[in-house]
Amino acid sequence: MAASHGAGQPQNDGCRSLSLSGHVGVDSLPEQLVNKSIKQGFCFNILCIGETGIGKSTLIDSLFNTSFDDPVSTHFQPNVRLRAQTYELQESNVRLKLTIVSTVGFGDQIKKEESYQPIVDYIDAQFEAYLQEELKIKRSLHSYHDTRIHVCLYFISPTGHSLKSLDLLTMKSLDSKVNIIPIIGKADSVSKTELQKFKVKLMSELVSNGVQIYQFPTDDETVSEINAIMNGHLPFAVVGSTEEVKVENKMVKARQYPWGIVQVEDENHCDFVKLREMLICTNMEDLREQTHAQHYELYRRCRLEEMGFRDTGPENKPVSLQEAYEAKRHEFYIEMQRKEEEMRQVFVQRVKEKEAILKEAEQEIQAKFEHLKRLHQEERLKLEKNRRVLEDEMAMFIKKKAAAELLQTQALVSTPVNFKKDKDRKNFT
Ligand code: GDP
Repeated sequence: MAASHGAGQPQNDGCRSLSLSGHVGVDSLPEQLVNKSIKQGFCFNILCIGETGIGKSTLIDSLFNTSFDDPVSTHFQPNVRLRAQTYELQESNVRLKLTIVSTVGFGDQIKKEESYQPIVDYIDAQFEAYLQEELKIKRSLHSYHDTRIHVCLYFISPTGHSLKSLDLLTMKSLDSKVNIIPIIGKADSVSKTELQKFKVKLMSELVSNGVQIYQFPTDDETVSEINAIMNGHLPFAVVGSTEEVKVENKMVKARQYPWGIVQVEDENHCDFVKLREMLICTNMEDLREQTHAQHYELYRRCRLEEMGFRDTGPENKPVSLQEAYEAKRHEFYIEMQRKEEEMRQVFVQRVKEKEAILKEAEQEIQAKFEHLKRLHQEERLKLEKNRRVLEDEMAMFIKKKAAAELLQTQALVSTPVNFKKDKDRKNFT
């Protein structure tokens, strides 16, 4: 079978479009893609943000019609902790690896940034893990467990007033990183008219504060109409329940009150069905795509630029990866040399300072030594003088003593013997 050349017209991109004169099987490509995707399975990651007790776990259980057995949290968490749990779900022959990440302790911190910063860090960490896998020489992206967050269900308290500053700050710091779908939790606690006003107020606050929330796409004509309508219903006001109640001989998910029953899946009661349709049936693939093509792309671009990679050089000339790498390496080398020189100078300066201090100390010790030496010398001279005086006195004394002894001897010699005898007798009696 030959392609007809007659229909070949040059196209804008330099490609000729040809029509086939018989069946070749190209039309089975979408089917091949579907089969491959089914075999591979899908992965979807939901982040639930909202204060403790706002109904996050109940809503997720209601959405997937199962019990995820999420442990109950308290209001006394010292900091926000992100708890990720992964489950394998199967419907018909389609397998879904679902990860639910909940923000334990959100809103219970005194400082607001302590509530949202761990969430920002968590989302970035998942992007970083994916980027690292992508940058590996031996990549295994097809078997890689992608943990990037595809959607953030942001639970707003049903106050009927306005957004809390923590909600605004959190959404503002996340809107460039994740698809945010704002929802009003426990919507059965606000009356119908109040709810409408509350929704309008919330949307105008989000717009005036420049918070970008996820918009259901309207470029695909098969879903554009329903998506456009649903964009007008945001934020969804939801009610969750794991309880089944009998209504008109049918068991339905509902919340039973003394005054009546709120049915989770009744669109007159709340937007639960709208949320489930939009999140799971209509836009799950778009949420996955947006995460990869928009949020991850932005993260990747910033990180690569941070690492020094550029697509174009100074004169807008394309730069190859190799050139960018070489340039960055050279930059690092220069920087390292500069730092080394700086450190050397600091070291020399320190040595000089230390030397000066030591010299000063040495001079001080020398001066002290000289002073002590002088004192010692003076003391020695003084002692020497005293010694000489004493020696003179001693010599004088010896001389005097000798003279006295001589005088005594002479006196004894010249005294008469009788006189001496009388004297001795007198002494005897
Ligand atoms: P989480 O801490 O945000 O996960 O909140 P839970 O899902 O554990 O719900 C906390 C309490 O709120 C439970 O007693 C739920 O039964 C109740 N609850 C959950 N969803 C709703 C709702 O839509 N409306 C009302 N009134 N209560 C709800």
